[in-house]
Amino acid sequence: MPSFYDYSKQFAWDGIEKQIRQARQADVEKALSADHPTMADFAALVSPAAEPFLEQMAQRAHGLTEQRFGRVISLFAPLYLSNVCTNRCVYCGFNAGNIVDRLTLSPEEAAQEAHYLYQEGFRHILLVAGEAPKIVTPSYLADVIKRLRPEFSSISIELFPMETLAYKALVDAGVDGLVIFQETYNEKLYAKVHPAGYKSNFKWRLETPDRGGAAGMRRIGLGALLGLSDWRVEGFFLALHAQYLLRHYWRSQVTISFPRLQPATGGFHAPYPVSDAHMVQLLAALRMFLPDAGMILSTREKPEFRDALIPLGITIMSAGSKTDPGGYTRESGAEAQFEIADHRSPEVVADIIRQKGFEAVWKDWDAAFLQ
Ligand code: SF4
Repeated sequence: MPSFYDYSKQFAWDGIEKQIRQARQADVEKALSADHPTMADFAALVSPAAEPFLEQMAQRAHGLTEQRFGRVISLFAPLYLSNVCTNRCVYCGFNAGNIVDRLTLSPEEAAQEAHYLYQEGFRHILLVAGEAPKIVTPSYLADVIKRLRPEFSSISIELFPMETLAYKALVDAGVDGLVIFQETYNEKLYAKVHPAGYKSNFKWRLETPDRGGAAGMRRIGLGALLGLSDWRVEGFFLALHAQYLLRHYWRSQVTISFPRLQPATGGFHAPYPVSDAHMVQLLAALRMFLPDAGMILSTREKPEFRDALIPLGITIMSAGSKTDPGGYTRESGAEAQFEIADHRSPEVVADIIRQKGFEAVWKDWDAAFLQ
């Protein structure tokens, strides 16, 4: 079976960019009336020609989300285990070239942080770490997961890419979700922004969701770092990637995150800033193309914008997040990965969700269902 890397070779970045730019009003109208939009329809939906149809797209996205998910927003929290990293991603505060305070939580400390989140109400946790395979080892991860398992019905990971067998071991230990952002689907740009370290291998990273699917991860999370390049083309490849995974690993649910570049140590600024209106266009287009995909919004975004997106297709949100290891239970002094824009407590976020007529769900409902 060809991996997504092989499959995606038939779609040239420049050709897709041209196709999107050349879309006309008639293409958008056709896409809007399609029950099952094609990739060509998706290209029309993210095109400049679709911008006057944003209201209509938002309504479609709202209707589809309500039909497939009901009025429910699941809440989760990231738990940063380590900010040690051997990579040099130019946009990240954990970049190995940055002189910052580094910290790796011991398994006991990780369990204390997790217990704090448990007391806040969370039952779905996302373990995050930089790429430091000699520090965040398989036995370290197994120890952390074993300690967290009794309190959390869903444990996801956002770590460095691994082999299928390593993912299988994590699934057996109780991990049910893999989050791995490609950052950019543009191979040339990828090389520029990932100049050194294991992460500079574009193919290895692009094939990671394949390995997660083969290992039996129940949820596979994708994302492109919005602001690195043309969001319309990144959106096209994200949709293509999600469609490919759903066809090949049909037991897994696909989720999509919308990480918009935020200031971080190192002074990197987004070369292609993405406006709020364009974020909404991308979200609505993805919802129309992938009606069953979970859509995730983090605390990188401002409170008002997060609240406004709740009815438009978002199904999962983080709340009360800290992006420095140890940050929930103490002033760790360790470097944070990026600036948080929504500092509201989880309970306040849950209240806002309820005020908007949605249910805030702390426990991953389908993990409970499967059990
Ligand atoms: S984005 Fe991830 S891999 Fe890159 S420097 Fe930051 S923590 Fe390391």
